[in-house]
Amino acid sequence: MSPDTVIKNNLSSPESSPEESLSKALDKFYETFQSDLDLVREGAKQHGVELTSGGMFDMPTKGAYSLRIPGDSTKRQEEITRLKACNTLTFVCMDYRQTGQVTEETHPDGVIANAGGPVQPNQDRFNASIALVRAILGVNPDVTLNLVGHVGVCGGANHFTDGHMKKLHQQDINNPGNHEEWDAMKEMLLKFYTALQEAGVKKMKVGLAKIDNDNIYQEIEWLSV
Ligand SMILES: [Zn+2]
Repeated sequence: MSPDTVIKNNLSSPESSPEESLSKALDKFYETFQSDLDLVREGAKQHGVELTSGGMFDMPTKGAYSLRIPGDSTKRQEEITRLKACNTLTFVCMDYRQTGQVTEETHPDGVIANAGGPVQPNQDRFNASIALVRAILGVNPDVTLNLVGHVGVCGGANHFTDGHMKKLHQQDINNPGNHEEWDAMKEMLLKFYTALQEAGVKKMKVGLAKIDNDNIYQEIEWLSV
């Protein structure tokens, strides 16, 4: 090893460039969420709903389960270039009843749609999401985020709380005036919001999409935070 090489190695390690950090966070994010469609395969069959997948710059398909996540290694350079330049990103659940509508209404440059979106009760999934945003901030500190969860039983939130959301939803139906499901979803959503605020995101909107008892999307209720 020449003295030059030694110096270079010392300089480049352990700090990595913002792009390298982003690339690592993208790998981790993809690894964590790439199989999310498997969680809804059965449900989709029952409802006769299509499953679609794509990167974060492929807009969701209305009325389908639309997994849209970054990190696919074949799209790496293009994604990094676009992440550096984008103004607005939307985090949303891939639930077929609201993904397309929420994306349309929030006008993002890119969308991250997985099971739960910004509602991630599982710690590994939560951490991978926050780490990705931190890494995006490294290349694009002014990005604006829309964080939109939903009620009407979020399958992702329900799966990772062992069926708790479905129970709360049923209790609310049995007790008109109750809003246990709303409160629980809001609490998990605000946990995500707070972590991103601490990570340095300055511009964020946070809301819950309403879905009625006939599975029809109503509107996003933006929360005052
Ligand atoms: Zn959901």
